[in-house]
Amino acid sequence: MRRKLAAGNWKMNGRLADLDQLDRIMAACPAPAADLLLCLPATLIHPAAARVADHALRIGAQDCHQAGAGAHTGDIAAGQLMDAGASAVILGHSERRADHQEDSATVRAKAEAAQAAGLIGVICLGETLAERDAGHTLEVIGAQLDASVPDSATGAVTVIAYEPVWAIGTGRIATTEQIAEVHGFLRARLIARFGAATGGAIRLLYGGSVKPDNAAQIFAVTDVDGALVGGASLTADDFCPIIAALEAS
Ligand code: PEP
Repeated sequence: MRRKLAAGNWKMNGRLADLDQLDRIMAACPAPAADLLLCLPATLIHPAAARVADHALRIGAQDCHQAGAGAHTGDIAAGQLMDAGASAVILGHSERRADHQEDSATVRAKAEAAQAAGLIGVICLGETLAERDAGHTLEVIGAQLDASVPDSATGAVTVIAYEPVWAIGTGRIATTEQIAEVHGFLRARLIARFGAATGGAIRLLYGGSVKPDNAAQIFAVTDVDGALVGGASLTADDFCPIIAALEAS
């Protein structure tokens, strides 16, 4: 019932010349059995969106401001991302929570702005290693979920990405048991808040060092509807096998 989603996050990487990777992904996946999304630096959104116009591959952004317009130098409104050709935006990535002191209330406001502009919000949650080691993982994740996800969330416009901070860019992945525990917890909490239909329709992605050689085992976990992929989304050589593993799951 939930369509799988392979989402990439290029972070602060990529120039115009790197958009040939999109051509290679489209050629490798002419009719994908999963939704495909690449969240690019803002500078690449417009040319990338034009490039994928005839394909199912969609282009997303990595952040938006919570206001619709105004005196916010350097920020970008959700409506401007939509105007540039984005169809989704990552919100509350742990790097933004850490580097820009974004709290969950801000993430929620951004998710509301994204939804109002017609963008899918990919809302990120994740515990630090210290929080996991202290046994606080579910408490932290539950609090982030409650405070970051707007009441207006639906399966069509909201995606949740569970990304343990200690697994992002480290080459270290959560065990399938750890992923199953958190995703099962998230699913139950979404259903408790939004009801079975909406809570059961919101997709749950895992993120954190997903690579071609570990993707299949992650996608076999119940309630994993796809992945948010950083480093391995930068090249078609790495991203295409992850898409293939998701399609086969
Ligand atoms: C991410 O950027 O969200 C991420 C999960 O990165 P990586 O796959 O490189 O760990």
